[in-house]
Amino acid sequence: MSERAVTEDLNPNHIARYQFDRVIPFIESLAQSPGMADWLFEPEQVLRVTLPVRMDDGTIQIFHGYRVLHSTIRGPGKGGIRYHPNVDEDEVRALAAWMTLKCALVDIPFGGAKGGVSCDPRKISQREKAAITRRFIAALGSNIGPHTDIPAPDVYTDAQTMAWIYDTYSMMHPGHNNLPVVTGKPLDLGGSPGRATATAQGALFVAEHFIELGGVQGLSSLQGATVAVQGFGNAGRHAAKLFAAAGAKIVAVSDSRGGIFDPNGLNVAEVELHKDHEGTVATFDGVKHLGPKEVLEVPCDVLIPAALENQITLENADRIDTKLVVEAANGPTTPGADRVLYGKGIHVLPDILANAGGVVVSYYEWVQDLENQQWEEHEVHEKLRKKMRRATERVVTKRVALIESLGAYRDAWAERSDAEVPEPDMRTAAYTVAVGKCATAAEQRGIWP
Ligand code: NAD
Repeated sequence: MSERAVTEDLNPNHIARYQFDRVIPFIESLAQSPGMADWLFEPEQVLRVTLPVRMDDGTIQIFHGYRVLHSTIRGPGKGGIRYHPNVDEDEVRALAAWMTLKCALVDIPFGGAKGGVSCDPRKISQREKAAITRRFIAALGSNIGPHTDIPAPDVYTDAQTMAWIYDTYSMMHPGHNNLPVVTGKPLDLGGSPGRATATAQGALFVAEHFIELGGVQGLSSLQGATVAVQGFGNAGRHAAKLFAAAGAKIVAVSDSRGGIFDPNGLNVAEVELHKDHEGTVATFDGVKHLGPKEVLEVPCDVLIPAALENQITLENADRIDTKLVVEAANGPTTPGADRVLYGKGIHVLPDILANAGGVVVSYYEWVQDLENQQWEEHEVHEKLRKKMRRATERVVTKRVALIESLGAYRDAWAERSDAEVPEPDMRTAAYTVAVGKCATAAEQRGIWP
């Protein structure tokens, strides 16, 4: 590991706060009243619960679960539940804050929340996973609810996990329409058509529109563009399939066990079949084999990190060889790496924009459940397309405005602080829109009582 990497702060909550604070100079109400930034950034509620679970071998194991309700300023909390050994309070805090900003950016009436259980999903059985889920939801009790905080899938949780969440909550709250308490459910249990592919579909809509708008020098469409994808789960697998269907050539993919690379293009359908049979893409034959992170460094036009946080860091940023990064994952790029990529002329479509398709279709599922309706898949698709294109335009327009007025912002800020005014990259523009919308809503509501 290089010396620079050692000095980089990889705490996701510190990174989220840093990203938030950077846009204060661009938002009048925050620039003028410093306490306001704390109000908007600090989570409303942090819950930590202890979950005793009887394992298949008869022993009792204790797991720790977290649910952070970051903000209800713009609506009830919304955010996924993750099962992973790295889950801790700071990770969940950061993920919850990013949800608040994401919902604001794409203009859906939710705040932000997130949850997780620290466990290794690859080492537990389905029965143990169900037991952890049910105990977690029981422990959260009425802290989640259709109008307070609505969970969804995230890393190593899926539609089956959401079905257990719904069932547990419903048993504890009988006599109500509880379907809207959780989204990402199976289709036969109040799920929405299009939810399974929504995150990747949203990322495709954003990338396509950004390219159409002339955002990427040397790339006029995805037709023939080379694409590398890190992560082959809900976000990554569907991204590989959908970008391929849009005419791109998928040259590399990876999962937690390793990556594969073929400069002539992988047959994504065959790779998917292999993943389903063998549990990994890493043993796929007839291609070059890579480490799970090496896939980030293959030469490509579009790079899609779709696994975890802190994948593009100061340690590898200068070896990233792409034109556009599309953050299907949350928090894959560190602030230090952002600066390096910006210096290299690589645009980053930030997580709060690029992967917002998941929460947008979760919102559509919630609406359908509240109304006891089921929409057609093409309706969901068209609504999502419009939402993601509009959000992309909002960010691009804001970036142009920031560039035009950068001098004035720098002068005004210099009178208040020594802190640097950031370069107006796409993340800065997206945060300025999102934090600005939260600040406006907070001002309109005021502080109760
Ligand atoms: P998932 O569990 O379905 O898939 C995760 C994938 O990442 C798996 O293929 C796993 O093998 C791989 N992976 C794990 N560690 C890796 C590593 N070190 N290197 C390479 N691959 C690795 O999870 P998901 O739902 O696809 O979530 C992936 C990312 O997308 C997360 O950051 C999540 O927060 C984000 N996201 C997901 C959704 C959603 O709707 N599921 C929505 C928005 C954002």
